[in-house]
Amino acid sequence: MRDFAVVGSGPAGFYTAEALLKAYGDQARIDIIDRYPVPYGLIRFGVAPDHQSLKAVSKRYDQVAENDAVSFIGNVTVGSDVSADELRTHYDAVILAIGAPHDRKLGIPGEDLPGVVGSAEFVGWYNGHPDFADLAPPLHGTHAAVVGNGNVALDCARILAKNHHEFEGSDIVAHALEALDKSAVRTITILGRRGPHQISMTPKELGELGHLEAATPVVDGADFPPVEADEALEPGHRKSITILRDFVAQGPDTTKPRQIVFDFFAKPLRIEGDGKVERLIVERTVLDDSGAAKGTGETYEVPASLIITSIGYQTPRIEGVPYDDRGGKFANDQGKIADGLYAVGWARRGPTGTIGTNRPDGYEVAEQVAAAMPPGGSGHRSGAEGLKRLLEERGVMATDYDDWRKIEETEVGRARPGSPREKFVRVEDWLAALGR
Ligand code: NAP
Repeated sequence: MRDFAVVGSGPAGFYTAEALLKAYGDQARIDIIDRYPVPYGLIRFGVAPDHQSLKAVSKRYDQVAENDAVSFIGNVTVGSDVSADELRTHYDAVILAIGAPHDRKLGIPGEDLPGVVGSAEFVGWYNGHPDFADLAPPLHGTHAAVVGNGNVALDCARILAKNHHEFEGSDIVAHALEALDKSAVRTITILGRRGPHQISMTPKELGELGHLEAATPVVDGADFPPVEADEALEPGHRKSITILRDFVAQGPDTTKPRQIVFDFFAKPLRIEGDGKVERLIVERTVLDDSGAAKGTGETYEVPASLIITSIGYQTPRIEGVPYDDRGGKFANDQGKIADGLYAVGWARRGPTGTIGTNRPDGYEVAEQVAAAMPPGGSGHRSGAEGLKRLLEERGVMATDYDDWRKIEETEVGRARPGSPREKFVRVEDWLAALGR
């Protein structure tokens, strides 16, 4: 019998557990550990609430969780409740699937002013993430800015732009919907430090901006290279650029009250305001020979009472686990960190790729584990039993599969992807729902 600990219950964690199940059958016990009392990580807290078809993947994860060889151990933070080294003594292998939940910083003056929020915070706020319950992003001003040209920037801009009933069928948390209803934001500027050809936005997500009830995309044709240059682009990317060109051709729909303005070749220099954000000072850029953004010296200001920085994420450090500072992820070689210690998903590769990208990733690492510890053998580890004993000694209230189900059945627990969230939920509320 082998004992495996998968740390993190988002897509990377569940795909890895699924792959380990396939590789070991009933020859392994797999514990999925999460810092929150309920699982799903990115699916619950990261995927946009109006993208329910993406959230539906959690049903597949449920099938893994229901397997007798798999246990869920929630409300346990590796690094504080239990160390990575302790886990390694209790399990044959520990696979870190903790994602990349921390925002990268712009590193410019004024970034600490109230009103500047990272996309992980903003996305967490509208998705009911307990850590961001009190974020209260300022929505009283008419201008907001989103820095970054990836899909997360699009998610943030779209959520800011939607009308109340465009959230029907979503699972946006009630406190966010209420605040967005009262929002005064009329102009949302999405800033890219490079040009339209360098965006990291995908066609489906970009296309959605053309179908918003109350908002219209505004794109300046002067930012584009000649249309022939699009031919060299990879087909999916070319499609995104074509959508942007269509927005140029159609022109803004002036009957709509909100605008989503694409400001390309715009590099944030500093953030200014009297005790809170009022404006972003931006430098116009050109592309240098390597394709990087080079400042031209021309500066201008973008008014904003809310600035969302959406420039990528980082994996948090765990004491004793080697870290790759440049990549913002665990230092690893094809997923292997050390003997018996692996990383998968964003914690392995950095924050790129779709939910599905994590599947081959998890399977590849599971194959490596199986090659190092062939099914049939035993590491004679204490597994969940040893871990639970340790947690009990420390007074950590771990949740299990039944607790997770119980929480989701309660009013406070209506945080399950696909179901409405009538109340905001905090970890204390979740535990209180269990009578703890
Ligand atoms: P991303 O795709 O890596 O985009 C990050 C953006 O930030 C890039 O445009 C980058 O510009 C810009 N940036 C980085 N550093 C900057 C700086 N110092 N100043 C200004 N701009 C800066 O990251 P993401 O949007 O966080 O998305 C993460 C992953 O999740 C992606 O793979 C994404 O596709 C995926 N995702 C998918 C969906 C979906 O499928 N619906 C939704 C959300 C996210 P440069 O190119 O110039 O570096």
